[in-house]
Amino acid sequence: MLIILLGPPGAGKGTQAELLAAKYQLLHIATGDILRSAVNKGSPLGKKAREFMDKGQLVPGEIVVQAVFEKLEELSDIPGVLFDGFPRTLEQANYLERALKQRGTGIDRAIYIEVPEEELVTRLTGRRVCRECASSYHLKFNQPKVRNVCDRCGGELFQRDDDTLKTVTERLEVFKQQTAPVVDYYRELGLLTVVNGNTEISQVFNQISAALDQR
Ligand code: ADP
Ligand code: AMP
Repeated sequence: MLIILLGPPGAGKGTQAELLAAKYQLLHIATGDILRSAVNKGSPLGKKAREFMDKGQLVPGEIVVQAVFEKLEELSDIPGVLFDGFPRTLEQANYLERALKQRGTGIDRAIYIEVPEEELVTRLTGRRVCRECASSYHLKFNQPKVRNVCDRCGGELFQRDDDTLKTVTERLEVFKQQTAPVVDYYRELGLLTVVNGNTEISQVFNQISAALDQR
């Protein structure tokens, strides 16, 4: 099962991916998490990626694609993959399609989580993320049991550098310009399911589960 989660920043991709990966035993590949981990390690990839991430712009294609394909090598013993935050451009979508074809497989479903823009700003500026396992929380909408501590692994929660109003505005613009065409691409292929992301986390999860169970 190869699933893509699409949606603007703050739509709830990471939140849903965590729940879906557990339910369907999928490998969760989040390009944002891979890049942040490279930034924290100060690796050459991280240094290059950082300048784009800090500005809210997309990291150039080849760096991201390379990171995704290293992860995909793990594919052989798992039932499937959930792509979160990838592909974000038509170029990445084409690259992914070719690479999967070479492996004799393809995307089963792309899920687009739709959320109005005003709500996205509130979600992103109130987001807190675990330093250890990258789980996502919110100051009001999805609080951890203990303040600033991850429910899942006990890690410390922090605010991402790019979750400021200025960078969020840029990221939403980048989504409209560069990633919205990817949503249309999967729609034209007949692979897209649109879910209402402007509702409770559990209800978004039920909509996506229903779409995956129908396949
Ligand atoms: P993305 O991975 O799409 O950028 P996240 O999953 O990190 O988005 O969610 C962004 C923020 O919104 C987080 O603070 C998260 O806790 C919160 N959130 C996620 N889903 C919902 C929801 N359905 N309702 C309210 N807040 C949500
Ligand atoms: P995210 O964690 O998905 O919100 O991504 C955070 C940042 O990482 C983005 O604003 C981009 O700078 C970068 N990024 C993540 N995924 C990609 C991708 N597929 N292509 C290019 N840049 C990406």
